[in-house]
Amino acid sequence: MPTKLGQNFLVNKDIAKKIVEAAELKPDDVVLEIGPGKGILTEELAKKAGKVIAVEIDGNLVEILENKFKNKKNVEIIKGDVLQLTTYNLQLTTYKIVANLPYYITSPVIRKFLESENPPSKMILMLQKEVAERIVASSGKMSILAVSVQYYAQPQVIFNVPRENFDPAPEVDSAVIHIKTLKQENIKTKEQKSKESKKFFRVVKAGFCAKRKTLINNLANSFHLEKKEVEEKLKRVGISSRTRAQELSVKDWKKLAELF
Ligand code: SAM
Repeated sequence: MPTKLGQNFLVNKDIAKKIVEAAELKPDDVVLEIGPGKGILTEELAKKAGKVIAVEIDGNLVEILENKFKNKKNVEIIKGDVLQLTTYNLQLTTYKIVANLPYYITSPVIRKFLESENPPSKMILMLQKEVAERIVASSGKMSILAVSVQYYAQPQVIFNVPRENFDPAPEVDSAVIHIKTLKQENIKTKEQKSKESKKFFRVVKAGFCAKRKTLINNLANSFHLEKKEVEEKLKRVGISSRTRAQELSVKDWKKLAELF
């Protein structure tokens, strides 16, 4: 049975240390931790970072955390739903995210922060192993999630964490993933970037809309075009008409999106 609010607490301190090490924190770094739970990661983060802002939704845990960290000046506990907060509310400018994410909001959290006007420089996240593998997939196994992450960042699985390291133990193993945000081209304005990404994702979503159909069919249906017209566009960017959406890399999607 899925645990309420994805509350599978990490019980192995060595793994918490390894996660924090992967974040390569400097004394003036600001870290956003999502879902600190009982504070196993928070404790390690507080030793290395300048400031830890930890957002927890569960009021009972917030009480435990406030007690535990009452003498730690560099830890701020915020009660709230991370999906309802913005980097502006949280007063985050330059920051990293480190978290053992609640499973039920993994994708929305990753997308929210990568797509934000002010993304983190990197994210070190523990998530379901299968989801981590989907995020780092290459051509042939791409999904909307993989394209969404790889459009903004370079993801890499750093190590796996078997389920016995959690209480209660979940039904699946986990993995820790490093998502390094790509530097945006500064010559473009915010409006240009937002226009470009909107178009990019409209084409990606259209391409993936029906799983069993070919890319050409999906694009023709979504954009109300003749198959011939779509075939022509694909040809112009060197993609065969029998290609499926999962075979395209972010680079391919970018080239293709320019023609729509
Ligand atoms: N960091 C702790 C650890 O490693 O043991 C707890 C991790 S547990 C997988 C996920 C945590 O996220 C829980 O404490 C849960 O209450 C919290 N949580 C769930 N949904 C949340 C949300 N929308 N915003 C903030 N925290 C949330």
